[in-house]
Amino acid sequence: MRALLVFTAVFVAVFGQETFEGKIHIVILLLQRKSEIVSNIYSYLFVPKIDFWMEPTHPSLPVDIRVPSQSLKEVKMFLESNDIQYTVMIHDVQNLLDEEKRQMLKARAVQPRNTDDFDFANYHTLNEIYDFIDMLVVENPHLVSKIVIGQSYEGRPLNVLKFSTGGSNRPGIWIDTGIHSREWVTQASGTWFAKKIVTDYGNDPALTAILDKMDIFLEIATNPDGFAFTHSQNRMWRKTRKPNSGSSCVGVDPNRNWDAGFGGGGSSGNPCTETYRGPKAHSEPEVKAIVDFVQAHGNLKAFVSIHSYSQMLLYPYGYTRTPAKDERELDELAKKAVNDLTSLYGTRYKYGSIITTIYQASGGTIDWTYDQGIKYSYTFELRDTGFYGFLLPANQILPTAKETWLALMAIMEHTNANPY
Ligand SMILES: [Zn+2]
Repeated sequence: MRALLVFTAVFVAVFGQETFEGKIHIVILLLQRKSEIVSNIYSYLFVPKIDFWMEPTHPSLPVDIRVPSQSLKEVKMFLESNDIQYTVMIHDVQNLLDEEKRQMLKARAVQPRNTDDFDFANYHTLNEIYDFIDMLVVENPHLVSKIVIGQSYEGRPLNVLKFSTGGSNRPGIWIDTGIHSREWVTQASGTWFAKKIVTDYGNDPALTAILDKMDIFLEIATNPDGFAFTHSQNRMWRKTRKPNSGSSCVGVDPNRNWDAGFGGGGSSGNPCTETYRGPKAHSEPEVKAIVDFVQAHGNLKAFVSIHSYSQMLLYPYGYTRTPAKDERELDELAKKAVNDLTSLYGTRYKYGSIITTIYQASGGTIDWTYDQGIKYSYTFELRDTGFYGFLLPANQILPTAKETWLALMAIMEHTNANPY
């Protein structure tokens, strides 16, 4: 049987403050199954400075890579000599970055004085998001509070919004965005979710029913050092910003750092890779803070960690092929959530366990939370499917947030209706 393999490559330049001038984004089509070549591509390309936007996984899924211009010729030759076709998708990556920056500057010209004035249809800096959080707390003192669950490596507060209508240690729902810092549509969506919760409480019966019995915790900037770095230095930064001893390469993949199959397949021991797992489980303060919070709380019933991109809703496991014991229920709920999401704008999502839907990934967030007994553990991969990747234009923030909210509501309503 012939299988279609689709590859996308983003070829970019890497200079001091990283710019991405005049380079191209390429789709590569492999028209027959060549799994050996796929593995060769993987090992060949898995060198420092080559940045996988989407790693080689399932034959039906695309592979997107960002290559420094000095390796471009070499990589093209490799592809061509292996009879792998490709086409250009984005002709100038820097154009997207310039447009993004232009939009942000336009938004920043007006300093919001309250959260109604906040420009949710735009990307924001870390400080703008922190200011938003503080305004939201001031405006909604009986519903919203800010908890600082720890400090990032560079000393930034790890702020979590708590939405609660009372009670003590009520069952909780956790949502985080931006653990991979370059996935900007996630922090932007998280900001919109926060406003949506305060707007809907008392107005939307479904959300009101949830908050009458449960608390919602939302960490918008889960990797604040990385996020600040995406604004100041390198828009494509994914990892944390902690230096690695014995290496000039900085940072750990905070979605490979959890104590769930830590060190297994689908994570790397090389500090210079994007999936570097770190020296030990929970080595990153940004991860450890959540671990401590989850364990101290002890009553979280749903845990949703939000990434981009590729339009998927995933449940455990990533580190093992052994199905989660609640797989049937998790799958049914994922189907419902995805159907709700699709109903708004027709955006198509895949769903399933991490290891069967994308790839083996060890040390991931929701495998750990599931093993802690949080049954409704899910990961989203938001828009898109490789047209813009991490550089999703700001005019897609609101549609992305709104459709994702429907899926979140499905998960939260189900969690509320099925206490355990
Ligand atoms: Zn991610």
